[in-house]
Amino acid sequence: MRRPIFVLFFLLHLKNARVILPTVPDVMHPPVPDDAKVDRDMAFMMEDPDPEVTPGLFQGDMAMTNEIYNYWRVGIRWDVFPEKLWVNGTVPYVISPIYEPSDQVTILKAIHILNFMTCVRFVPWDGKAKDYLLIWPIKYPKGCWSFVGRFGGAQIVSLQPPDATSPNCLGTEGRAVHELMHALGVFHEQSRWDRDKFVKIHMDNIIPQYKTNFDKQSLENTTYSFEYDYDSIMHYGKYFFSKGKNKPTITAKQPGIKRLGQRKALSKGDCLKLNDLYGCFDNPRLRRKYYTLCQFMGI
Ligand SMILES: [Zn+2]
Repeated sequence: MRRPIFVLFFLLHLKNARVILPTVPDVMHPPVPDDAKVDRDMAFMMEDPDPEVTPGLFQGDMAMTNEIYNYWRVGIRWDVFPEKLWVNGTVPYVISPIYEPSDQVTILKAIHILNFMTCVRFVPWDGKAKDYLLIWPIKYPKGCWSFVGRFGGAQIVSLQPPDATSPNCLGTEGRAVHELMHALGVFHEQSRWDRDKFVKIHMDNIIPQYKTNFDKQSLENTTYSFEYDYDSIMHYGKYFFSKGKNKPTITAKQPGIKRLGQRKALSKGDCLKLNDLYGCFDNPRLRRKYYTLCQFMGI
């Protein structure tokens, strides 16, 4: 008599699983602006290509629509695109069952870090919410990429799992944190309007097609309440989109800066920026809590 109960339980479980796991094709063609499309054969030119440096995506790892891209030329404006912010800082998510358990753990670590250090709340999708993140190993375009801010509907965050040649996007939780921050609405640190005071862009060393990846935002349309952050998990590395060895594309202007960007953990600045963006500092008690967490846990 036990078996029918077990079967019933199993079927119920399956039914639930079906509700919370939407079908996603292996091949996705997210909208990409025409002038950001590049020849995929160029990939061979990049030595040790970084999984974030995916040809065909705006600024390497951001999927953009033409509409946003046009605004992005002058800096994205939250007053123009208020719908890009996640309502109440709540982000429902689904992690693809295609991932190995160890990769799922890496993704969950990234989610827990953001939930712990900020007032943003990633919550498992209830099968009903209209807008949610689908964390999925999309095959084309491969790599680590994300839309910027809330896109509406099922929104892909692509995290390519490790293979024989590379840990890709899931060697540590850092790259997952980077892409999730894009999904929350954060752009690359070196695209700040004031970046030329802090970094030098070596245009001659950049593969020509990717020069626009080093564009910056205009002062009128951006709000940056915090100092330029060389340690940001959102900062490009020294050789991103480089033509080759010993040809850095971006270097620090300030003395004593040893590295540019990292993909290990949230910096203090990343933590403050995200909390500020989502209004976590509005309440004095929460402000104390999250300021302290950023100071102690940010690198
Ligand atoms: Zn990025």
